[in-house]
Amino acid sequence: MSTLPQVNTKPDKPRKITVQAFFARGGTLSRAHPNYEYRHGQLEMARAVESAIAEHKHLLVEAGTGTGKTLAYLVPSILSGKRVVISTGTKNLQEQLYFKDLPFLQSLFAQPLSVCYMKGRANYLCRQKVYDAERDPVLSGLDEIGDFQLIYDWEQKTEAGDRSELRWLAENNTWWAKLDARADLCAGKKCKQFDRCFITAMHRRAAESDIIIVNHHLFFADLAMRDQAFGSILPDYSAVIFDEAHEIEDVAGQYFGMSVSNTQIQELIKDTAAISRRKLFATPELDRTLIQLGDQTEQLFHLFPQEGRQGFREQESFLAEHGESYGELQLALEALCARLELTEGVLEDTLPLVRRARLIQEGLRFWMESGDASFVYWTERRGRGLYLQATPIDVSQALTARLIDRVDSVILTSATLTVADSFDYAQTRLGLQAARTLRVESQYDYAKQALLYVPQRLPDPRQPEFTASAAAEIERILHASRGRAFVLFTSYQQMRQIYQLLQPRLDHPLLLQGDAPRNALIEAFRETPGAVLFGTSSFWQGVDVQGEQLSCVIIDRLPFAVPSDPVVAARIEAIQHHGGNAFYEYQIPQAVLALKQGFGRLIRSTADRGILALLDNRITKLQYGRVFFDSLPAYRFTTKFDDVRDFFHV
Ligand code: SF4
Repeated sequence: MSTLPQVNTKPDKPRKITVQAFFARGGTLSRAHPNYEYRHGQLEMARAVESAIAEHKHLLVEAGTGTGKTLAYLVPSILSGKRVVISTGTKNLQEQLYFKDLPFLQSLFAQPLSVCYMKGRANYLCRQKVYDAERDPVLSGLDEIGDFQLIYDWEQKTEAGDRSELRWLAENNTWWAKLDARADLCAGKKCKQFDRCFITAMHRRAAESDIIIVNHHLFFADLAMRDQAFGSILPDYSAVIFDEAHEIEDVAGQYFGMSVSNTQIQELIKDTAAISRRKLFATPELDRTLIQLGDQTEQLFHLFPQEGRQGFREQESFLAEHGESYGELQLALEALCARLELTEGVLEDTLPLVRRARLIQEGLRFWMESGDASFVYWTERRGRGLYLQATPIDVSQALTARLIDRVDSVILTSATLTVADSFDYAQTRLGLQAARTLRVESQYDYAKQALLYVPQRLPDPRQPEFTASAAAEIERILHASRGRAFVLFTSYQQMRQIYQLLQPRLDHPLLLQGDAPRNALIEAFRETPGAVLFGTSSFWQGVDVQGEQLSCVIIDRLPFAVPSDPVVAARIEAIQHHGGNAFYEYQIPQAVLALKQGFGRLIRSTADRGILALLDNRITKLQYGRVFFDSLPAYRFTTKFDDVRDFFHV
């Protein structure tokens, strides 16, 4: 159990707390919270979570911003007395839960809460790597020696080995990347440090905790590995609550899928060479095996498309033509495993390398030979890496088999789960058709706080003349709003073109995605009066800027997923194959939820007000636009620019 950070609230007298007594008017929360206001929706959600956990039911809750949903699921989770995993999409929310909400609740509960905050392995130090590095004279620079010494000293004092304790450590510190506890080089129980390893300690803490906070990536990485001997992280649990649950189809797809890349094999070669030298088991034969493996990798990966993301269905003809190159690469991997397995006396070093080589072999075999039609196969070029990927076309089957049928209660919550008042889309995509559902209205008065503006004279965004017209429209909106805006795009190309057109014409301080890390840009936006931020998908969600500083959100076009993307194309095809209408069943709902997320950036408190501008007037001109209007909050709506001007009193 971890000790939660302390907060200064007046502890309530120890008493039996119930969900009703906690959230009701005059209840525990009202006495403890300085800004308490009774929220019916919050109590309703808390009751629904309470009964779902008690009755072993699955539940989806759409809870608008400002409903107080974190307390509405934390309190019934704590009161259930069961082990509950809480999985979030962003680090900000994890930190809010662990450093703010749970300490606040601890101050109200008589019994100590047993809570654990788990992060991915790369956040923790590997003791064994520190000891190995200390003996390794090959340091790559003087600065690094200083950093290493600091990490070395800290290793002897820290209890958790969590890098967030090292506040001075830069995000891209090169030593950390060499010393973190990633599974790649971990020998698990064979490691001499296993009993005092920070990862082992994290597992022990989790096993003693009732509430475990993780992120979606860690959760699904664990779920994907649960049936394997190595790598599972979480202890058994009765319920899981996904906050920011609109992201889980994507994340689950990544972890239930498969990926093998040339860089993964090159890393294996590099690590094997370095470790064999350090641990004195390098031989000319091993070196030759590694060279051979490098050559075969280059030969095979060179045969795939070298551009962007592309679907790949030609495994059979590929193997007919290039079966030899594929076979040679499998043999080279086999030869490496055989050499490493024959090496005596260094099992803890060779074991992780063999494990990695075997995983690559399995992945390649699956991608090339399985012919499993429930996956879409595709290639992707990222920098120097070429990735062979397989993604489940329908994530719901894997989710049902691995999670929904195995865990008593799966609870999903987000501000964006419904399309035109219906949960059908989320339920079907995730295999939760039998789950209970609840919608909790937001506390905000959207009709008063926000004006949705859709200009009518712009061309269709698919026409080439759209770019120049959209730039002119953005310019006049920003003039009216005096900057203070997010301009969000559905593609990098459109963002860059419009930014280049506008940069010489605008006086506002401009921030462009890609010029600095995401968090630095958001921080700069908060601190720079009148700033305008140009961004793409990563700014559509998980960004919270309260107050006047963000008074306008402009979106260039309806955020339909690119239909030529191999995963999207395969999902569309699968729906059509089963006689469905992919446009209405998949593409529109997906775009509706993305638009709700993007517009959701604007109103973050009862005092916020501002303009939402959508430059894509297909929403008013085409029939399907109705679905978008029926799904968005009840913003006031206009097509006239004068209303925008009046809104800002220009
Ligand atoms: S068990 Fe793994 S992560 Fe832990 S110290 Fe050993 S090698 Fe490092």
